[in-house]
Amino acid sequence: MGRVFVAGSINMDVVTTADRHPKIGETVAGQAVHYFPGGKGANQAVAAAKLGAPSTLIGRLGADAFGQQLRQFLTAQGVDLALVKDTADVHTGTAVITIADTDNTIVVVPGANALVSAGDVTAPVLAKGDVAVSQFEIPQATIVAFFKRARAAGATTILNPAPATVCGHELLDLVDILVLNETELGLLAQTELHDTDDPVRFTEAARRLPTGLDKTICVTLGKRGVLALVGGEPSLIAGRTVKAVDTTGAGDCFVGALAAQLANGKAIRDALEYANAAASICVQRMGAAPSMPTAAEVAAVLR
Ligand code: ADP
Repeated sequence: MGRVFVAGSINMDVVTTADRHPKIGETVAGQAVHYFPGGKGANQAVAAAKLGAPSTLIGRLGADAFGQQLRQFLTAQGVDLALVKDTADVHTGTAVITIADTDNTIVVVPGANALVSAGDVTAPVLAKGDVAVSQFEIPQATIVAFFKRARAAGATTILNPAPATVCGHELLDLVDILVLNETELGLLAQTELHDTDDPVRFTEAARRLPTGLDKTICVTLGKRGVLALVGGEPSLIAGRTVKAVDTTGAGDCFVGALAAQLANGKAIRDALEYANAAASICVQRMGAAPSMPTAAEVAAVLR
């Protein structure tokens, strides 16, 4: 069995709730505060680990209390943190989220995540059969170095270009599997996809991506499931009908599950079905990293 290596962000999400958002210059009393482990890299590594894949996270924490708490949490989820560095004089990545009137405001400060360097991601000994995963909450130049290393070792590379950010050919050329949602697809394909439900429009947009059709492209469509282009051939895997309570982390669950299945030697179509099922479990629970399912839970859904 191969290993999953995730180079990515690790954040503490500090969530406050209030009756309404303060106006500029105003202070309002809130009701509650929660601390949720997050960051796309951490979420995806947790998803892969909980589904039984040996999962190594590559990233950075600040030398502070959030860093220690995140280390404890991720270790308890079975994620290997040998390649996560504590970094002096910088804080751990932090997202400050205020929820009021069902709307939220979010300020994310990357902190240590912005310092994840090419030297950090070229340390692991990747091998054929391994899967290298990354997203856009660490510097793109670092991801290029990581994927070059992975490609040279014969590992499979998965890019989740989230949050939506433009990127150049140098990175896209190093990607085997691109997993992106509608917003990210719209940005990278330079097309307007709001208010469309038409699989043909998504297929056309995916074909316009500057990647070449040798890549596998997976467009996640929320409750509608996922549109996959494998060798340029489109197929739609329908979303599972579930009662969603919190879709935070659904995309991260999908990516982590896909990576875990590919590291386990599964064929791409089976791996996509599995990831679609795993993500449908994630949306039925609150939070991101804490809502990732176990292999037994996914097996029960697929039975
Ligand atoms: P992101 O969180 O990156 O925006 P999506 O919202 O597209 O990603 O969700 C990722 C995947 O999670 C979907 O492709 C699907 O498999 C699953 N999913 C998301 N929302 C639901 C839902 N309401 N019901 C069932 N599955 C869902």
